[in-house]
Amino acid sequence: MNYLSTRGHADRKRFCEILLEGLAPDGGLYLPETYPQVDTATLAKWRTLPYAELAFEILSLYIDDIPAADLKAICAKTYTAEVFGTDEIVPLRELEDGVYLEALSNGPTLAFKDMAMQLLGNLFEYELARRGAELNILGATSGDTGSAAEYAMRGKKGVRVFMTSPDGRMSPFQQAQMFSLQDANIHNIAITGVFDDCQDIVKAVSNDLGFKRKYRIGTVNSINWARLLAQVVYYFAGYFQATASNDKPVSFTVPSGNFGNVCAGHVARMMGLPIQTLVVATNENDVLDEFFRTGVYRVRAAIDTHETSSPSMDISKASNFERFVFDLVGRDPAKLRQLFVDDLGLTGSFDLSADPAFRQAAERFGFRSGRSTHADRLSMIRDTEKRFATLIDPHTADGLKAAREQLTPGVPMVVLETALPIKFAATVVEALGEEPARPKKFEGIEALPKRVVQLPADAEAVKAYIAQHCD
Ligand SMILES: *Cc1c(COP(=O)(O)O)cnc(C)c1O
Repeated sequence: MNYLSTRGHADRKRFCEILLEGLAPDGGLYLPETYPQVDTATLAKWRTLPYAELAFEILSLYIDDIPAADLKAICAKTYTAEVFGTDEIVPLRELEDGVYLEALSNGPTLAFKDMAMQLLGNLFEYELARRGAELNILGATSGDTGSAAEYAMRGKKGVRVFMTSPDGRMSPFQQAQMFSLQDANIHNIAITGVFDDCQDIVKAVSNDLGFKRKYRIGTVNSINWARLLAQVVYYFAGYFQATASNDKPVSFTVPSGNFGNVCAGHVARMMGLPIQTLVVATNENDVLDEFFRTGVYRVRAAIDTHETSSPSMDISKASNFERFVFDLVGRDPAKLRQLFVDDLGLTGSFDLSADPAFRQAAERFGFRSGRSTHADRLSMIRDTEKRFATLIDPHTADGLKAAREQLTPGVPMVVLETALPIKFAATVVEALGEEPARPKKFEGIEALPKRVVQLPADAEAVKAYIAQHCD
């Protein structure tokens, strides 16, 4: 399997070459040259596989530069009941007739990012050992991504994590999750400033190419193809649990931010998984909902990006969206560049409303969308607790709201549960007047010793800290 850039660069790469990379050299995103097709006989064979073996089968179609036995061992080591809480790994629960929640949030940090990041940690360790190389991951987080990355990379050989976060601005639970890690290769850096300062620092350090090369700086952001690929697996696992046979369509609703999660659903559908509809759920930051309703993709300015009660979906632009649009415009890199380089660069938006391609988003690719407000989320949390005695987090509530607007009789609707309520306790308390239950392993974490350094919002200070801790 070879990978190409959405922006048309002539190079073709293999999986392990792009594993440790971010963007393609021309600024595009990597995609497989073709989507492997899965026929009904294969689906029948996969239906009964344990999760780790299903992951191996799917990953094998996209990874041909890791020996099969090694890849199998990596999958087996990643997707265990010990790490994800159940043998099913992503158990499905029926809320009411035809509406399901797929639990993706029972990994180490209680959010779905663990599903991909845990695999990435093991792939990184494997590939770095094979190359005899090291990697220093530099990131900025306001919560979910940073903790998922740290729990995936902790104790891994050849990898260090330097994670910046805005000092005092994460929830006490999220802070405790990250700062209580005592592993020598994990470095928490609390920056005096806001999240944007952290992101600016990461950009400034990455733009210093000399420093970047010398200290082998890398990232784990959501445009990484390996992360997206890992997420394809749970669409298959969800499908098999929601159906008794492989001729039945299923729809999915996905609480969305950077479009990574739902893009994995698109890939599963392109492979031939019988997905009828992919519902993109957004909050008040509705860049994506606007596109699927109108054909206009309009990136927001920082000042127009709302801080909401589903903060992991608070995005101004969706960094994986380019992958889907590439397929939407018939994989024409010139057209893609016109939209993402020329139009977005010049005006901050592009308009496909008059383009026949836009209709394909719904008709050929099965996309729909929805949007929720804070009040919608609160009422969805209350309603789900009252009618089904089930507690959901505000992101999953976004999903459930959008899902209810897109139900088709006879077609199961699977809503992806992207975080557990305890991670966003304040909103749950606002909705219900009570604290969500906390899994045993997180009891009392706020009182654990913290491992974190405070630094000013200054890229030079962060560089000096990295340099000091790289020997
Ligand atoms: C990251 C995240 C999302 C958004 O996922 P994307 O892949 O960026 O679309 C939704 N919910 C939660 C809880 C998250 O952590």
